[in-house]
Amino acid sequence: TSEHNQRSPDGSCSSEQIGEMEIVGRARAAFLSGRSRCLKFRVQQLKSLRRLFSEREAEIAAALKQDINKSQYDLQLYELIGIDGEIRLAIKRLAEWAAPRPVEKSLLTVTDRVYIQPEPLGVVLVIGAWNYPWAITILPLIGAIAAGNAAVVKPSDLSENSSNLLKELLPKYLDKELYPVVTGGVAETQELLKQRFDHIFYTGSPAVGKLVMEAAACHLTPVTLELGGKSPCYIDKDCDITIACRRITWGKFANCGQTCIAPDYVLCEPSIQDRVVEEIHRTLQEFYGDDPMTSPDYGRIINARHFKRVMALLEENEVAVGGQNNESQCYIAPTVLRDVKPDSKVMQEEIFGPLLPIVTVSGLEEAISFINAREKPLALYVFSSRKRVIKRIIAETSSGGVTANDVLMHYTVPSLPFGGVGKSGMGSYHGKHTFEQLSHMRSCLVKPLALESLNQVRYPPQGTARPAQ
Ligand code: NAD
Repeated sequence: TSEHNQRSPDGSCSSEQIGEMEIVGRARAAFLSGRSRCLKFRVQQLKSLRRLFSEREAEIAAALKQDINKSQYDLQLYELIGIDGEIRLAIKRLAEWAAPRPVEKSLLTVTDRVYIQPEPLGVVLVIGAWNYPWAITILPLIGAIAAGNAAVVKPSDLSENSSNLLKELLPKYLDKELYPVVTGGVAETQELLKQRFDHIFYTGSPAVGKLVMEAAACHLTPVTLELGGKSPCYIDKDCDITIACRRITWGKFANCGQTCIAPDYVLCEPSIQDRVVEEIHRTLQEFYGDDPMTSPDYGRIINARHFKRVMALLEENEVAVGGQNNESQCYIAPTVLRDVKPDSKVMQEEIFGPLLPIVTVSGLEEAISFINAREKPLALYVFSSRKRVIKRIIAETSSGGVTANDVLMHYTVPSLPFGGVGKSGMGSYHGKHTFEQLSHMRSCLVKPLALESLNQVRYPPQGTARPAQ
């Protein structure tokens, strides 16, 4: 297996490098043993993974509470229900997904078996972000196991408690060699990225996504990049603004705004801006009370660096709601900014925090051109009671996914491929899509040795066996 790994130019290795090379080498050897290909084995591993989450929920909840002040309720809603649903789906459908898929034949191949056979890629590297540390690492892992691969899992160093717990628990439930966990930050990830993998599945920022793709290029390793960006939310004036704002408030401020598909900013006409501010304010009070800092349902910013980054985005804007903060607790109140200028700092980068800027536009036309003038977002939201408005937004813009009259919900449907487009990422997953993303769709043709006379037409010398005209 050593030719798959890489040393530094002088041939020496640090102990860290040796450790990671060994882990990847062992995963490859385990893959080459063939045991992960057996469908029974895959199902057994998936069942065991499911058991991990039912038996260890309390420990997972405690780790997430420490990492990001996530409540037990949010753990269920945003991580465990999805993980459980995906494992159950994979177990139920695996035989069907992994079966040969017959395809249409050509005249020259009528007597043959022509089919697509999904096959495992080999060793997959899963690199995860910290904001939903369990779902983000486990959903790709489910697909990797289902597709028959080995997988090295590298959770984020920022959600340290969850990552350490994952490292402790996974080997207790899954094959240790096939599915190892490597913890650590930038240095460890960069070391890992020097190794050769058969696929890299990365979730995180576009900036690091570029580094991952660059490292993957050295080995011509294909990548899935689940990135982020500024997901717009257009509120049409012809719409139930109370309901729209309730749904937006939920999706924006869940996990303290640190959700890759959270509505990043609102676009609406000036005539409804006051109502939007008012309704979001009212909903915030209903959800989190007068002081969200004391609400068990409201999260925290992951660390001091991100706290400072988000606070800096507040500058030069008119705060309509919120704005309170507490650095020692990494707390920023749910905040709404009104009349935000398109060139202000908060509109230049993904916010990934509890600030909701409102940018006014003259109407649908301007909203569409505003969206199209920027990078293709991961998600896009539109609220309107007019079908025509929804249709036009979908037809005239582009984004990884889109939900109309709600937020986040397209993420929850496993039959919809979840992923970005353009700068928000490449490749997609969930349900069968993860299985396919982490499989090679092999073209197979099996011809009988009989019926040789049918082949005469293709053999030289030219024309000798041509059928009579
Ligand atoms: P992060 O800082 O945890 O980084 C993600 C992973 O990359 C971690 O495992 C980290 O250790 C590693 N990493 C960080 N810097 C690195 C470097 N220089 N070289 C190699 N590896 C490195 O997470 P983040 O990037 O802050 O995550 C937030 C971003 O992720 C946002 O843009 C968000 O929208 C996006 N996101 C996307 C999805 C999705 O499904 N598309 C989901 C969650 C988050």
